[in-house]
Amino acid sequence: MFIDTHAHIHQHAPEETGDIVDRAIAASVGAILTAGTTVEDSQKAIDMAVQFENVFAGVGVHPTDLERSITATDLSKLSHLAASPQVVVMSEIGIDHQEKSPNKEWQAESFHAQINIARKHKLPIVFHIREYQDDYDARSARDDAISILKETNAGELGGTAHYFQGKWAFAKELLDLGFNISFAKTLTHKIDLVETAINTPEDRILLETDAYPQTFKKNRAKWTEPKDISFVAEKLAALRGTTVEAIQKTTTSNALDMLGKRASIVETVLKSTSRS
Ligand SMILES: [Zn+2]
Repeated sequence: MFIDTHAHIHQHAPEETGDIVDRAIAASVGAILTAGTTVEDSQKAIDMAVQFENVFAGVGVHPTDLERSITATDLSKLSHLAASPQVVVMSEIGIDHQEKSPNKEWQAESFHAQINIARKHKLPIVFHIREYQDDYDARSARDDAISILKETNAGELGGTAHYFQGKWAFAKELLDLGFNISFAKTLTHKIDLVETAINTPEDRILLETDAYPQTFKKNRAKWTEPKDISFVAEKLAALRGTTVEAIQKTTTSNALDMLGKRASIVETVLKSTSRS
């Protein structure tokens, strides 16, 4: 079965979540990592993981959700949440330098501090790096993120650059630090990603959907859900000259490797789901 290593399905209306999980399972997605984006939202991710055995949680404060510097109280709450048995990754954390993104100092402090929480709980990090389109100043999201990942030795924790959208040189830098590269549906249309999709070593590729309530799409049937992971797998298989089955096997095994000591709870669920 597939593992969707990054989504936000706990943000959907409660009456929808059961169907989303059922559709995922019917499409051979046996485990979904749903990531919190604020302290309160991280609690909701955990609550969903308590409710559904195929769902596991990430906790973290997303860089675009910062309304001030992250506080000691936020960090102690996150650390408390990170100790929950349903939590398998620190996510979503990262750096985002789009035009209207929050203050860069807040973002850098928050990313740094949350990597320290991940270290305390031995959690891999699933992180976001997004650049301003025109790269209007020298201080790029990429530079900030790489310097924080190096300063904190975050490669030791393992993890992945989620929804990777950069070019191969950037992917190579992240791979050299010890991270995986996670592909989403952007792979099906973003030509810049082809080189990375072909060159990333087999044991470092992951799949995700980043599914969340896409209210900007009027047609509900067009919202991305974990069930859509097969589109990403098909494209990756075509680019790498292999089969969807091989991509499924490899990416699931890579995701379990990333989860370290928490892999066993996910593996147990994958086995019981594929038997039923
Ligand atoms: Zn996300």
